[in-house]
Amino acid sequence: MAPTTQIDSSLKNGYQSNGKVKNNNSCSVIKCNATLAEQKISIRGLVGKLLSSPNPDKEILSLGVGDASAFAAFREGRDVSRCIMESVNSGTFHGYPPAHGFPFVRRAVADYLSWGVSQKFNEKDVFMTVGGTQAIQVILTVLANQGCNVLLPRPGFPPYEATCEINHIEPRYYDLLPNSNWEVDLDQVRNLTDSKTVGIVVINPNNPCGAVYSRSHLTKIAETAAELNLPLIADEIYGHMVFREAKFVPMASLCSIVPVLTLGALSKRWLVPGWRCGWVAISDRNGALSQVRMAMERLMNVTSGPASIIQAALPGLLSDSNDEFHSNVVKLLESSEEALFHMIQKIPALICHSRPQGSMFMMVQLDYSLLKGIGDDMEFASKLMKEESVLILPGTVIGLENWIRIFFGTPPDLLKEAMGRIMSFCSRYA
Ligand SMILES: *Cc1c(COP(=O)(O)O)cnc(C)c1O
Repeated sequence: MAPTTQIDSSLKNGYQSNGKVKNNNSCSVIKCNATLAEQKISIRGLVGKLLSSPNPDKEILSLGVGDASAFAAFREGRDVSRCIMESVNSGTFHGYPPAHGFPFVRRAVADYLSWGVSQKFNEKDVFMTVGGTQAIQVILTVLANQGCNVLLPRPGFPPYEATCEINHIEPRYYDLLPNSNWEVDLDQVRNLTDSKTVGIVVINPNNPCGAVYSRSHLTKIAETAAELNLPLIADEIYGHMVFREAKFVPMASLCSIVPVLTLGALSKRWLVPGWRCGWVAISDRNGALSQVRMAMERLMNVTSGPASIIQAALPGLLSDSNDEFHSNVVKLLESSEEALFHMIQKIPALICHSRPQGSMFMMVQLDYSLLKGIGDDMEFASKLMKEESVLILPGTVIGLENWIRIFFGTPPDLLKEAMGRIMSFCSRYA
């Protein structure tokens, strides 16, 4: 899970009407950025709070946070250590990397992203970033001035909102439709757009819904964006992590319709989130993004990118030496999803409207008429932790009250055990 900041509430409490800040000892406290002084709920903060009060007699089982890297089954066949060792042992990557990334690394990412895309990426289209999170920060910073707005999916991924707040960009939410495979509500996208809108974020395959959009839906999104004269920000961090007959279609393959900024990272598909390595890639047919590209170059010149050693391991990681590992991970996720979906069918209080076709997450609606004594998703999550020591993410933190997000990137035994506990929890409140 990407880092989200939790702020000590004493900072905010110390603010006084005269703008001065005093702490309990009555000495002056140095002021911080006012946006960061405000207490916000964050995934990290909430998860920390939930984890602090489990049932002491039961081991904690987490279906809350999206990190499968801890499980040995998910690492089988992975060839990441050799790549990093070669990078270290070469002895040639101890200096500063170029601001936009090593040219050979940018080329490797460009080749990787050109899969299924008719207008191939060039190495100059790619900028290396510190994970997907910095890619989000860089894209929003480059596109928007203070007072601009950006369209984000709801439910969504909180770091977009956090970045908007820090940059004084207004987040505007369009709905993903739970009964239509979580497709984008395009009428709403049109209605939300005004002269200050700078772009539309589309996450595909989707966190938190598990949706994988068809080429025809993606084409409609691209056509809508083109009609509104907006670039698309395509978050494809779960690219290729799709199940059964679902196909991953990169947004860049539609760049003849609309300019696209694609973002990705090693965190999810290679399951090395701690390596903090990602990228932004520009697809621009007719020069609409020429200013944006220049701004991106300037911003990257004055900020820091990913560590040289990690970058240099990338061409190896992106090569086909990891094909077996990737297909193993997808098989595991596919069977976990299958098991989860069938277990959800057996719990009347939990409803899955559209089954996940990719990523590692399922959104489930709570039916309160079958959950006596539970008033909202936060209460569901905290009681579930207190009684059963099972962690799930309440939908409120990702913009959708009365829903929960379940992470299924876990070994089948753990998933079954956790779902068994959720089942007995729900029947106790039925
Ligand atoms: C995890 C995630 C990211 C951020 O990636 P990091 O590399 O962990 O910073 C971006 N977008 C989505 C949808 C994610 O799930």
